[in-house]
Amino acid sequence: MKTITIAKGDGIGPEIKDATIEIILAAGAEINIEEIEVGEKIYLAGNTSGIAKESWDMIRKNKVFLKAPITTPQGGGYKSLNVTTRKFLGLYANIRPSMSLHPFVKTKHPVMDIVIVRENEEDLYAGIEHQQTDEVVQCLKLISRPGCEKIVRYAFEYAKQYGRKKVTCFTKDNIMKQADGLFHQVFDEIAKEYPEIENEHWIIDIGAAKMADTPEAFDVIVMPNLYGDVLSDVAAQIAGSVGLAGSANIGEECAMFEAIHGSAPRRAGQNLANPSGLLQGAIMMLNHIGQMEVAEKVQNAWLKTMEDGIHTYDVYKEGSSKQKVGTKEFAKAVIANLGKKPSKLKPVSYGNSGVLTLPKYQRKTSAKKKLVGVDIFVHWNGFNPDELAQKIKLLNSGDTELSMITNRGIKVWPDGFSETFCTDHWRCRFKPTDGKTITQFDIIQLLSHAINYGIDTIKTENLYEFNGKSAYSLGQGQ
Ligand code: NAD
Repeated sequence: MKTITIAKGDGIGPEIKDATIEIILAAGAEINIEEIEVGEKIYLAGNTSGIAKESWDMIRKNKVFLKAPITTPQGGGYKSLNVTTRKFLGLYANIRPSMSLHPFVKTKHPVMDIVIVRENEEDLYAGIEHQQTDEVVQCLKLISRPGCEKIVRYAFEYAKQYGRKKVTCFTKDNIMKQADGLFHQVFDEIAKEYPEIENEHWIIDIGAAKMADTPEAFDVIVMPNLYGDVLSDVAAQIAGSVGLAGSANIGEECAMFEAIHGSAPRRAGQNLANPSGLLQGAIMMLNHIGQMEVAEKVQNAWLKTMEDGIHTYDVYKEGSSKQKVGTKEFAKAVIANLGKKPSKLKPVSYGNSGVLTLPKYQRKTSAKKKLVGVDIFVHWNGFNPDELAQKIKLLNSGDTELSMITNRGIKVWPDGFSETFCTDHWRCRFKPTDGKTITQFDIIQLLSHAINYGIDTIKTENLYEFNGKSAYSLGQGQ
């Protein structure tokens, strides 16, 4: 018997939660349920995260959390409960299967069965943002080796466990050579450990287009956070409906399972909502806690119900559907099908899968790191880069000198184009002069001289070599 935490959520949440629990208990799930309140009521009571301290304690104690959708109140100051939960609990992997149920649910893609494995903690979602000049704000995209290793390994282990044949990686490493480059590099490294699973890499733009057009070409797709956020909704929608998809958020200690849709407040309290999304989340939860037989029984009964044409209003279609039902009746129909298998849709078999456990991340020995320069970012209201260069060159010492200025990444000095549009945010790159080296002390000197010359420095980025390999981007056009 496993104790799980559950939150009924807001809007249609309580109805789909009741339906889901009724189905999995009828299928023989061995669970104790402890309920917490999260969402609108808690937000409106003045808690900006939408969750009380005691509820955190319970989630951390039970480690498995089934969460119905919540309503985030309109207006500023309320933080996303989902993002907070994922990051606090280290839920690094977001698993979103999207499968079409042709011809029983209308879809443009009759053959589609993909699983998106989205990195869930870092990338642009680290939420580190700063305004630096009148005209420019920045959002830091952080990609870490442990983040990449954990998510890529998860994708391959998932593929192995569920008998999937291929793992595809989507990145934009032709542009972000360091950040997405690391993700791609780690993918290639880890793929070698799974020779029985096919692997491939696509640049995200053409990969996304291919996925939307020919989803049958993909199986498991692993990608950084932002791409995964966008593409998993696209995948769910083109499979048939976002209302049918569930999602798992997995960490080393804890896990959270949910539907991918929201609380649909306009449909609340009318016995209309489709519980399938949360039910799919619950099926992933049952697999996660080792109750694979129950998970399989529920999924096959659900597939049979969908195939029988017993549909809630959102997927009901005159002709292909047989009976339009409410939330409760849909749950009853699934329960009546427990023990049966679909005859046209492919039945699932989770039998031999077992609980997915991954080795802990091992930190590697540090590389030899050498400081080889510094980028000093400057707020300057002028437009002519040559004029700025004259000013910045005042900082040249015998040891370090200005080597390049870029604006929004493109080189504007030396030899810039007059056509290039410039903002008030300039990157001035300093390198050691021939035969010299640069130290942290030189950087402090540069900044201190900048104050004396009235140059408004807004930040610095050190340029390094790791094991003799330069580890920073060149200026575009350099
Ligand atoms: P939504 O997903 O709640 O609803 C969009 C529309 O989709 C609904 O009007 C309804 O017609 C349909 N729909 C969604 N789920 C359905 C279901 N199970 N059965 C039948 N029809 C369904 O998106 P929204 O209207 O943008 O957001 C409503 C609220 O949900 C907002 O407060 C938002 O912040 C919140 N939200 C919560 C989560 C979460 O808790 N994970 C996720 C997304 C949105």
